[in-house]
Amino acid sequence: MKLPSFLASRFVAGETLETALPVLDQLNADGLHVALDKLGEHVHDREVANAARDTYIDLVRTLAERRTDGLRNRISIKLSMMGQLIDEDFCLDNLRQLLEVAAEEDIFVRLDMEGSDLTQSTLDLFEAAYDDFPNHVGPVLQAMLRRTERDVDRMCELGASVRLCKGAYAEPEAIAYQDMGQIRERYIDYMERLLQHTEYSGIATHDDNIIEATKAFADRRDIDPDTFEFQMLYGLRRDTQRQMARDGYNMMVYVPYGTEWFPYFTRRLREKKENILFVLKALLKS
Ligand SMILES: Cc1cc2nc3c(=O)[nH]c(=O)nc-3n(C[C@H](O)[C@H](O)[C@H](O)COP(=O)(O)OP(=O)(O)OC[C@H]3O[C@@H](n4cnc5c(N)ncnc54)[C@H](O)[C@@H]3O)c2cc1C
Repeated sequence: MKLPSFLASRFVAGETLETALPVLDQLNADGLHVALDKLGEHVHDREVANAARDTYIDLVRTLAERRTDGLRNRISIKLSMMGQLIDEDFCLDNLRQLLEVAAEEDIFVRLDMEGSDLTQSTLDLFEAAYDDFPNHVGPVLQAMLRRTERDVDRMCELGASVRLCKGAYAEPEAIAYQDMGQIRERYIDYMERLLQHTEYSGIATHDDNIIEATKAFADRRDIDPDTFEFQMLYGLRRDTQRQMARDGYNMMVYVPYGTEWFPYFTRRLREKKENILFVLKALLKS
């Protein structure tokens, strides 16, 4: 599907790396760290999975070449792009090949978390690689999942860098909290544990309640703001992102690009009515 440019410019940094790089440069110029995400998921063909691995490796090299002092640019990937749904050993082999280069170039690789059918497998693959690449790979945990308390404890035990988010996938009540108040409460509890026990975890949210709770907790416990970061999505709360960087917090922006933008885009629309309003307004104007 061709990406209409007015939508592209808001949530997705274009369809190619060439269109995403100026976005990266601008965000870096504003003091924001960047995670590049080449969009795509759920690959069932080995050749396509290997091609995704090679694309990620090229991306790591590109980021290393464009390194900006003081900024932690990195990539964010989906294991389902690299063969997770085909065969876990095959996927692990691809992940290891990627991490070899990432470690060589000192670029961090974040493993996005997908639907709950992939949670255990993603964490298993993460742990299988973590021993050899402890400084260059980390998982995402979703506060909405009931299992996450256990997973947070495990990551604290390992000291692994985690991205904490609410969770973008619709999950049944049996395995996931549905009430936003409860999800927020869980999130804040996990944030406190991660800030104390892990190295450079990411607090991924646009939610002021959680952002303020994080700042207050770090203040209260004398936790150096340089030991964690806030994370937001490209196109959302742009002024807040810059203001937080000016206030001295590490702020990372997740920048997706590529032709396979549709699933990412629909997850954003499901999350917030403001995002739907933005699209409707843009459509009416066009
Ligand atoms: C960097 C990053 C990476 C992510 N990676 C993953 C992943 O790997 N797996 C996954 O499942 N999910 C991921 N997510 C998505 C995440 O799980 C949530 O679905 C998404 O962030 C929405 O939740 P929220 O906490 O940001 O705020 P919401 O629940 O959308 O909003 C809560 C409150 O925040 C404030 N707010 C939100 N947006 C705005 C705005 N635009 N302007 C003003 N106020 C606003 C409002 O007060 C709102 O009521 C990621 C999110 C981020 C930011």
